Amino acid sequence: MGWLGLDDTDSLKEGCTTYTFHLLLESLPPSVTVVSPRLVRLWPFAQHRTRGNAAVGVELIVDDEQELLKHLDTYWNQHILPIKGNISPSEHDDRTQYPADPGMVWFSSHQPDESFYTQAVQSEVKLEQVPQADHSWGGQGRIGATAAIAWRQQRITWEAIAWRQPNRHGQKTRQVCDHTLTLVDSMPSTFLSRDPRRGTGLIAPRGPCPVLFGLRARDEESAFEAGKQLLAAELTESAVGWRVFVTNQATDDHLSQSIQATVADVDILSRGNCVITTESGKWLAFAESGSVKKLAHWLRPGDIIEGNGLSPEFGVLHLEKLRLISAHPNQKRPICENCSTRMKSMGKEQGCRCPKCKQRTNDAWTTTPRIPPFPSWVQPPMDSRRHLARPIEWEDV
Ligand SMILES: [Zn+2]
Repeated sequence: MGWLGLDDTDSLKEGCTTYTFHLLLESLPPSVTVVSPRLVRLWPFAQHRTRGNAAVGVELIVDDEQELLKHLDTYWNQHILPIKGNISPSEHDDRTQYPADPGMVWFSSHQPDESFYTQAVQSEVKLEQVPQADHSWGGQGRIGATAAIAWRQQRITWEAIAWRQPNRHGQKTRQVCDHTLTLVDSMPSTFLSRDPRRGTGLIAPRGPCPVLFGLRARDEESAFEAGKQLLAAELTESAVGWRVFVTNQATDDHLSQSIQATVADVDILSRGNCVITTESGKWLAFAESGSVKKLAHWLRPGDIIEGNGLSPEFGVLHLEKLRLISAHPNQKRPICENCSTRMKSMGKEQGCRCPKCKQRTNDAWTTTPRIPPFPSWVQPPMDSRRHLARPIEWEDV
């Protein structure tokens, strides 16, 4: 028995690490038993990240380890090494493109230390920090490959991934039966498969990659059942293969504890992006973050808030979750009882006086509560969330 990990094989030609991995698993000698394959999403700001920043791994039950290693060597040289140097297409054109630098690792009989997974999902990791494998191939990809098999699955979800026929790779459109998708979306355990706001499917990527669909579920049986139904549908194009992966998606593994802070300033920028200044740094609510942005815009100095998100740089938090703890009330000078004019302060702790009739009062302020747009936690809409983000409605703690 041992653990095999793979990462960074995205490219124009081969397109997707999950597909490369599927083909690799299909090629294994018949004496090797594949125990549930895993897909992990890693630190979203990693410099060398691939498109979805996903790495894959699997536990293998092996009788003849030498035979397996020989096979992996040959397979690596023939099918994976040629991917090296290809540039993967990105949906985000604003960052430097790194050529694919595939990596594969084999840990015989033990998994790498769990702390390496935590490190790789919550921060930038360098190649020198990767624990020593029993056998390893390639470069940068060894980071994700090792993190994938270091993961101990504290929290899990599942994803059924199907790949298109090779002659369809490179094309941007996909045929997945929308009626069946509506049915599987209504299964209690499936999630993020359809956007109810827009009435559109969320399971099919838009780019040229080999993936036909990725259908998520909270339990393995539902992932299998939903994947099977989608593939059996007449209006779904034929797939070259499919597998159910156990994943760290929707686990919040990328987040640390949430932070409470007091709002010092709220700055709404063009396009609706919003910067909340607090004593714990600047918290950013992006224009596409829906309710998070809406709540951020509503905030005023003095409000106490709690937030969670990632810090790509020190002192900056990209909000993924936000809630109001308490709102600083509206404060105005009192209205004069005689002539309904707004009174004016006479100086610190001197009370107020009516500018018209000179009536005095000791009350410096009248306060009215502000009603927040949301009573509790908010997060961005489905299509703007990270793969790792756990839906707040699951907070069954
Ligand atoms: Zn008055």
